[in-house]
Amino acid sequence: MAVTTACITGGELHRQWSEGSIRGELLGPQNTPFGSSGDLFLADAEDQRYYLLARYGTGMDKTAPCRVNHRANIYALKDLGVQTVLAWGSGAAITHSMAVGDIVIISDVVDRTYRRNSTFFEDSPLGFLRQFPVFCPTLQRIVGEVLHGMRLIYHGAGTAVITEGPRMETPAEVRALASMGAEIVTHTFAPEMFLARELEMCYAGLCYVLDYAEAGSRQPPLGGALFESMESQTGPDRLAGVVGSLGQIVANVAAAAGEIATACQCTQIQSQHIEQYGLPDDWRQWFSRD
Ligand SMILES: [Zn+2]
Repeated sequence: MAVTTACITGGELHRQWSEGSIRGELLGPQNTPFGSSGDLFLADAEDQRYYLLARYGTGMDKTAPCRVNHRANIYALKDLGVQTVLAWGSGAAITHSMAVGDIVIISDVVDRTYRRNSTFFEDSPLGFLRQFPVFCPTLQRIVGEVLHGMRLIYHGAGTAVITEGPRMETPAEVRALASMGAEIVTHTFAPEMFLARELEMCYAGLCYVLDYAEAGSRQPPLGGALFESMESQTGPDRLAGVVGSLGQIVANVAAAAGEIATACQCTQIQSQHIEQYGLPDDWRQWFSRD
């Protein structure tokens, strides 16, 4: 059966792979017209097969976010037949209603990156696309049902601001981000989400709360007694549990992903351009005008 679901994730993937908590086949980097992708894994869990793609290397091979080849990553997944992309990344909570170990299904973003290749179509008009809905609504619903079924604490919506990194934000920057409505800050998801949209893929972003955005204090904005009433585990315990459950989350999403293609409009995002510019059906030919 064709594998149509993938998760793009961070450096923890290599650790989980080496520890044996994720099983399958290491396929390695994939060659694309946009360069080499990150390490690709074909995972196998409970009769569900799905791809895992590592954005970063491990140890000293972990690059700054601006050096990740997002175009190669998305192209490689599309080329393998992937339609459903679940993106996984960490962030720092800005709002006091999010705690370490919570998962946020991102519903909107403010993209503050400026050093990344953000389109496949620099020499054509195919990148002029509306960004509403920002993420695949059907995939978001499925992810919410999966997280609910796994009894994980999650937020069904949240606005993320995506900063360039690799450095973290200053206290004044965090105050500015809060004033623009951001609830969590991360270095992940852009331009990945926009590139997936350009290739008509379903994409949803899951951001787990790793820590609290700098608030000008050595103490986190909230913690201790308030969260003990919501959840008996400590922040680090909850964080380890959430990160360790990634494989099961993706497997459960893959099991439900069959209904996605028929329930959303993601696969028709370029249909107006296809008609207007007479594009071929094969998306691989959209990049060249020879
Ligand atoms: Zn979709």
